[in-house]
Amino acid sequence: MSTPLPRVEQATVAVAGDPPSKFSVRRIYCVGRNYAAHAAEMGHDAREAPFFFMKPADAVLPDGAVMPYPSATKDLHHELELVVAIGKRGRNIPVDKALDHVFGYAVGLDMTRRDLQAEAKNKGRPWDMAKGFDCSAPCAAIHTVDAVGHIASGEIELKVNGKVRQHSDINMLIWSVAETINQLSSLVELFPGDLIYTGTPEGVGPVVTGDVLEGRVEGLGSLTITIG
Ligand code: MN
Repeated sequence: MSTPLPRVEQATVAVAGDPPSKFSVRRIYCVGRNYAAHAAEMGHDAREAPFFFMKPADAVLPDGAVMPYPSATKDLHHELELVVAIGKRGRNIPVDKALDHVFGYAVGLDMTRRDLQAEAKNKGRPWDMAKGFDCSAPCAAIHTVDAVGHIASGEIELKVNGKVRQHSDINMLIWSVAETINQLSSLVELFPGDLIYTGTPEGVGPVVTGDVLEGRVEGLGSLTITIG
């Protein structure tokens, strides 16, 4: 008798609507340093070209979830971000056609083991274990372009235990959503199911067990995560 093949569950993110549905996640791309004030707080020049890293699809975590405090870190950081959900395949997508590829937008957190990231930077090693660990990509429900249009400006704010930690505006993005899609699609072909975390504004910092994170992007509702 042969051993049964293991079954892999498809990672999904909720889609807001009536009735609610699910978006199957293919890949998660993240943009590094996409707000000038955050680049500055991390010790970098704001004008460099965008760069990308990835998280595994099953790192997503829904709104209202408890995120277990991850192993191997003493410095878990929050990075609140606008998330773009891709709905149409393409490569070398021109800037003026890029928004046609967007299915919707969501509020997300790029959770980071900052101490492991600092060590990786120092030693010239990959960021994967600093960025792509289990439950590292909380993402609230996706709001479709049909329902909310495109998000080019509006407040982005994170509170931890009710206190504001990050506050900026989507219009402060160094590389717009369309420019980001243009650049990313010159490196890899984009497909429906891809998520792009577009980078975080200034104010990143540590969280500890018991903290309640409440992120909000104007027009997209909120994302609440408790650190377990
Ligand atoms: Mn980030």
